[in-house]
Amino acid sequence: MTLAFVLRWRFWLVLSAAVFVLLAVLDRPASALLGPSDCNSSAYSYFFSGQKSVWSPLVGSSAAGGYSYVINPNGLPQGSSTAQQLIYGHKNWNQTNNDCGIGNQNNFDAVFNGENNVQAGAQDGINAVDFSTQDPPLGCSAGAIACTVDWAYVYSSGPNEIHEADMRFDLQYSWDDGQGPCILAYNEQSVATHEAGHALGLGHVSDSTQTMYSQSNFCDTSPQTIGSGDILGMRSLYP
Ligand SMILES: [Zn+2]
Repeated sequence: MTLAFVLRWRFWLVLSAAVFVLLAVLDRPASALLGPSDCNSSAYSYFFSGQKSVWSPLVGSSAAGGYSYVINPNGLPQGSSTAQQLIYGHKNWNQTNNDCGIGNQNNFDAVFNGENNVQAGAQDGINAVDFSTQDPPLGCSAGAIACTVDWAYVYSSGPNEIHEADMRFDLQYSWDDGQGPCILAYNEQSVATHEAGHALGLGHVSDSTQTMYSQSNFCDTSPQTIGSGDILGMRSLYP
């Protein structure tokens, strides 16, 4: 068994609202962007260059795998309300939150472990979530509004083992906690759900109806419900 140390990241690309709408009109009826269409996809990918990489089971958890994360309270756009949206984003995977009639798979746990002033980006054994003016966040490509970095042990056989995930949201953009009117801002829970998908081991898909699609639009709340492909991916990693 060989052991290597690798760093990979994926990010949430920005696409202007005008371009996004134009693509939607060209590719599909606008209604296909909503609700039940999320349930016709089998698209998913793995985060680490197509290699299956998973968290080991948490001690004391009934889940097949999971991780425990902290939230840095400094710089949260709407304070504790933002923190709650970040937690909901993780819970959307824990609870298999979907519009497809698929029951709670309960095979992965992301556990909130309180607030902590630690910053995201350092490999320090703490899975940190924060907001920062660093642009692009965590060294992701220009245009990224958020970024998740996973560290994993890579094995020659069997799945790789993720042992840390850090997540950063870019304060250069406006953020919406879903508690009031949203204007030209990114929905915190939606982006947190997408980034939590990276933390658990999923990569991007080209299907825009799925939470793991790489691009976002202002005020879009649809990624809060994970799609059928997203669920298949989670099930593949944590059966
Ligand atoms: Zn992403």
